[in-house]
Amino acid sequence: MNENFLVLLGLGNTAKAEGKSLVGQIDAVLPQTQCTQCDFDGCKPYAEAIAAGEAEINQCPPGGQDGINALAELLGHKALPLNEAHGETKPRRIAVVDEKVCIGCTLCIKVCPVDAFVGSSKIMTQVIAEECTGCDLCLPVCPVDCIDMVESKSIEERASTKQNESLNNRQVQERAIRDNWRSRFEFHQLRIERNKQERDELLKSKMIALKEKMAKDKSQKEKIDAAISLVNASKVDNEAK
Ligand code: SF4
Ligand code: SF4
Ligand code: SF4
Repeated sequence: MNENFLVLLGLGNTAKAEGKSLVGQIDAVLPQTQCTQCDFDGCKPYAEAIAAGEAEINQCPPGGQDGINALAELLGHKALPLNEAHGETKPRRIAVVDEKVCIGCTLCIKVCPVDAFVGSSKIMTQVIAEECTGCDLCLPVCPVDCIDMVESKSIEERASTKQNESLNNRQVQERAIRDNWRSRFEFHQLRIERNKQERDELLKSKMIALKEKMAKDKSQKEKIDAAISLVNASKVDNEAK
């Protein structure tokens, strides 16, 4: 039996043995690339849709046929071929930035689902190889086309396919990679949500301050209008005398 399939099935079964929910078991089998090719906003939302019977098990190109077969076995479903409308399975890759061309626009930093970039505005950006899931999401946003995807020896070595590597060791390594990407994705989402809340709070306090100023201006204008009316009335009185 295919070793990769056994590793993936082992990840799902371990999650089951640990008492994880059905979503947790499915998520354990998914690659954690967070690429959205399945048409969901990440692996966990796709796992939730599968668990709810709202998505087929064959929508994840990075997981490939072994991933589909492992999901089918875990869930007692019929295995399906990969739905190629979602893309094709490629070897694991990482993003590499051409430092000479990068203009430090930070667009890639904003879209990376696992915060794998380092850099800031106008400073050349680099990718932390170990954190890059190979999701490709940074490629289309780069205005100068200076990001390349290269096959990742380091990841393949971490999830080693060496002949003498035991299945158990491969499973442990694979799980470590996925747990890292999952937790970085969760942290990324929390950070985005926190930033949004902070922006909303700031906007709200600015609106309150603006309303208070307008109310104050209105009250001052009313006082001025009343004073002008008094002066005008007194002028009319004086002219009548
Ligand atoms: S790796 Fe990509 S396609 Fe597969 S479940 Fe995760 S987000 Fe979806
Ligand atoms: S660096 Fe690019 S390819 Fe790598 S995880 Fe981030 S967005 Fe995806
Ligand atoms: S999007 Fe491209 S140019 Fe902009 S910071 Fe990222 S790598 Fe550099």
